[in-house]
Order: sequence, then structure tokens, then C-alpha cells
Amino acid sequence: MSIAAGSTSPAEGWDTECDVLVVGSGGGGCTGAYTAAALGLDTLLIEKTPLFGGTTAYSGASLWLPGNQAQQRSGLDDSAQRALTYLRATVGERTRASLQESYVHHSAGLIAFLEENPRLRFRYEAFPDYYDAPGRFDRGRSVVPEEIDAEELGDLLEVLRPSWAADRLGADVPRTRLWGGQALIGRFLLALRETSRVRLSHSTALDRLVLENGRVVGVQALRDGRPLRIRARGGVILAAGGFEGSDALRRTYQAPRDSRWTMGPMGANTGDALRAGLAAGAGTDLLGESWWCPSVKLDDSTAAFTLGARSGIFVNARGRRFANESLPYDRMGRALLAQEADGVPLPCYWIYDGTTDGVPPGFVSANPTDAQPYLDSGVWKKADTLAGLAEKIGVPADELTATVERFNTFAEAGVDEDFHRGEDPYDRFFATGEGPNPNLVPLEKGPFHAVPLVLGDLGTKGGLTTDDQARVTTPDGEVVPGLYAAGNTMASVSGLVYPGPGVPIGSAMVFAYVAAKDIAQRQED
Ligand SMILES: Cc1cc2nc3c(=O)[nH]c(=O)nc-3n(C[C@H](O)[C@H](O)[C@H](O)COP(=O)(O)OP(=O)(O)OC[C@H]3O[C@@H](n4cnc5c(N)ncnc54)[C@H](O)[C@@H]3O)c2cc1C
Repeated sequence: MSIAAGSTSPAEGWDTECDVLVVGSGGGGCTGAYTAAALGLDTLLIEKTPLFGGTTAYSGASLWLPGNQAQQRSGLDDSAQRALTYLRATVGERTRASLQESYVHHSAGLIAFLEENPRLRFRYEAFPDYYDAPGRFDRGRSVVPEEIDAEELGDLLEVLRPSWAADRLGADVPRTRLWGGQALIGRFLLALRETSRVRLSHSTALDRLVLENGRVVGVQALRDGRPLRIRARGGVILAAGGFEGSDALRRTYQAPRDSRWTMGPMGANTGDALRAGLAAGAGTDLLGESWWCPSVKLDDSTAAFTLGARSGIFVNARGRRFANESLPYDRMGRALLAQEADGVPLPCYWIYDGTTDGVPPGFVSANPTDAQPYLDSGVWKKADTLAGLAEKIGVPADELTATVERFNTFAEAGVDEDFHRGEDPYDRFFATGEGPNPNLVPLEKGPFHAVPLVLGDLGTKGGLTTDDQARVTTPDGEVVPGLYAAGNTMASVSGLVYPGPGVPIGSAMVFAYVAAKDIAQRQED
């Protein structure tokens, strides 16, 4: 897993060389490296940390790749045209139509290309699109990697970044059957090792790009603190994630946020590729944007993404509901942002009753299954009455009590007159309640709980501007020759929205694939 000598002696002034250098080993980087190698290019992938997989390894690896053959095997009648209608309806004009087209039109080809390798297998899995817009599939259109036995990975398992709960919380998560991001990166590591044309080098960080006559011809990396000059004859694909791990860059480009509330691997994605791209003259866009999510505060230093609230309500610092609690997570994140914009300070609170033994009743509330440590630490609160709870969290007791009473009347009638919770197929996908509206579960039984909700993220999504082939562009729209970007290093095709499950990794994979193909084509020419 370290740099082997290059296939040929490096040119003078370089320590090693390759056709394609890929920076980062998440969904974008692995796809770029695999594509380049499968197309016959001598490929080198460098990864800053000792583990491969990045945030992608933590993820569910839903992939929004419309019209692909894995969907077809399940009988889903999707098409690039239908998906494009949906993308246009949700993203609108905020990103170029041609970029959106490039994403959608290469999706099916990507899956067909990957599935030529038996290691890389995908299947459809229901998970509704996030907006009620033309072209939507109510049950969703995403595919996921097929699960894989951990033992098939052999020694590669040691360099695969573990799941979020294991890596970030130190939880004892059995590693027997890998699914989601673990399966995706695990399968890629196997496929990459089996091609003879890829070298994988962990603990090797991009430091800066090397340019000659305006063209990116390689990089200077740091390995064990020592500089390493890598020549890339065909191109460099930056797929090094966003800048969610950098408080400094967050302060520069976003409202102040605590980088520890991101869900990305700690210390990994600190915007190195963004900085390197800027120094090479690249343009940027969407730097204020992230893949937002509400996160339950675990202690003073971390918070965990929550998704699919099955019961309870979210209230703001005034003790009032402010949104449909069953909204997709990025939309709920934006509702939290709107609270701030309206002058209502965060955190908000997830208020739920005593039916879940104190555990937040979400489909995913990334990981706590035991509430006691958080209650003991005083970050989460509980009280026998709503008034007592209100006092503990500092919201007006009469407001909180009135909010819950009003919500309970909605639950009885089955209609949320304020925020229409339970009316959208996405809401109902996670619902397990009974009664006329399974998303509206009355809060009746004490003790009542309050868990602070902060604005977390799955990574930032603003970055380097590109053309439709993922070639990095300058602020004037000129191509920076030899330089490509994908994933959260690239200004996202999805603009100001998160259209559906799997857009982050799906688009990362597509643009890395497109980049590698472009390099291969230019090499051939
Ligand atoms: C719990 C969770 C669930 C999610 N579920 C989904 C889902 O189902 N579907 C979906 O589409 N998205 C999902 N996401 C979001 C998604 O995981 C990320 O947006 C996506 O993985 C980003 O991919 P990437 O390739 O851009 O970056 P990453 O996967 O983060 O990879 C970037 C890599 O670059 C490396 N790197 C950074 N700097 C350097 C450097 N200087 N030199 C070399 N390497 C460097 C990092 O160490 C990292 O390994 C989820 C996120 C979380 C946290």
C-alpha cells in the first residue's frame, strides 16, 4: 500500500510518475482511479490518512444514478430524461444545465462500466427522492452496492476506514458482512488491487499542484512529512472531499460552525485540494453550502446525524415547532438555518415522550442506543412533566405545553395543520406509528426528553468550478489544463438543494469517471 517504484524511471526532478494521479480515496477517488486503470492508464491514488474510504466509507452509499441497469433488473422504469426533469425542477438554474445533463447522461454508463468487473455489483434499494417535483420516484431511484463478506477483503480490511460509529465513537461494531459505504469502498479496493495498473498510497497528502506553462503536470505531496514530487503525464483528479474539517475555511466561507459537528472523518477533509486549486488559478462556487443535516448533540465536542424522526417533535428556543419533523435531512438543516436567519438561536430541541426508554426515536440517530451517558453528562435533559422539561432547557413552559397539546390534537385527527407532516411519501417511508397518520404520534407518556439539535453536515459541497468533463475552470471559465475535480472538492452540480438520496456520492462517481475518460481520450489523441 505504499508507493512502489513507477513502471518507468521518473523524469528528472520527480520522485515517481504516472498517467493519472488521483487525490483522495472516497467514492470519487476510487471511481476515478478504477476507471483510469481499467482504461489502461498507469494510475496512482494518494490518500492523506492511513485509511482508505473517506466519508464515503461512513455512508449508506445510496447512489443517485438514474436509468442504470441495476434499476432495470428490479423493474424500475427510470430514464435519463425523467431524472433530468426532476433535477431541473429541483436544482433549477443555480447550476449549468449542461452540467446537470452530463451527470444524468453518464450515470447509466458508469454502472454498466463498473459492473463489467464482477467485484463491482449494485442493486436497487427504495429510498424516496427528497422533493415533490416532476420526474420524482415516490419510492426512490437509488442503487446501493451489493453487500460483501468482510473476510473476502483479507488484509485490505485493515486499511478500510471503519463505519462512523466505530471510527468516531469507538463503538464495537461487528465487521462481518459489509454494506453501504463499507461495501462500496471494500469492493473498490479489491477491484483496484486486481488491476495491475494502480498503485495505492495511503498517508500521502497533496500539498500543492505543480504547473508548467499554465498546465498542471503533477503535485508535490507529503509522505511522512517529507516532500514527494509526483509527475502526472495525463492529469490530476482532485477528489479530496470538502473543507468540513477546517474551522478556518468554514469561518471564511460559511457562518461560523463547529467542524466537530460534521460527520466526516476527523482531520481528513480540511480543504487541501480547494487551497491547491485556488493557488493554481481555479474558480470556486457554492462555498457557503453543505450537505446539511440536523444532528443530535452528544457531548460538547461532537454531534450525530439524525434521519427519519419516527415520533416526537422539534421545537425552537421559543418552544414552538418550526417545520415538518419528517423532512429529508438537508431540508431540515435548511429549516435550522432559517431559524437562525429569523433571529432564533440554535440549538433546537427534539422533544419526545417516555416510550423509547430515552433514546431519540429516529430511523438513524447515529448511534446512541443508550441515552443514560448523555443524560448523565447533562447534555440531554428529562423531566416528568413538560413544564419541568421546559425549565431545564430554558424555553417558555406555557409555549412548550401549548405546542405539545396542539400537536396531540393533530395526531388524533391525523392532519398536521401547521406543517403537513406525514403527507409526503418521504415522510411515510420511515413512519412506524399507528392511527390515522403514522407520522403523528402523540406525546403523552412521561418522562419527557429533550435532545439538543445542532446544524450538522455530511460534508461541504462548494468547491472548484468545472466544465461538463470535470475539468477545473478559472473564474473566467477557461480550463486549467491537466486538472480535474470531483466529489466535494468540486462545486456541486446540485446547487442549493439535495435532490435525492445518493446525489453526493453518485455525482462524485460520475464526474470522476468522466474525468478519467477525458484523460484517457486525450492520452490516446
Ligand atoms: C453517515 C453518512 C451517511 C451518508 N450517506 C450517504 C449516501 O447514502 N449517499 C450519498 O450519496 N451520500 C451520503 N453521505 C454523504 C457522502 O458520504 C459524502 O458527501 C461523500 O462521500 C463525499 O465523497 P468524496 O469522494 O468527495 O469525499 P470523501 O469520501 O470524504 O473522500 C475524500 C478523501 O480525500 C482524502 N484527502 C483529504 N485531503 C487530502 C489530501 N491533501 N491528500 C490526499 N488525500 C486527501 C480524505 O482523507 C478522504 O479519504 C453520507 C455521509 C455520512 C456521514
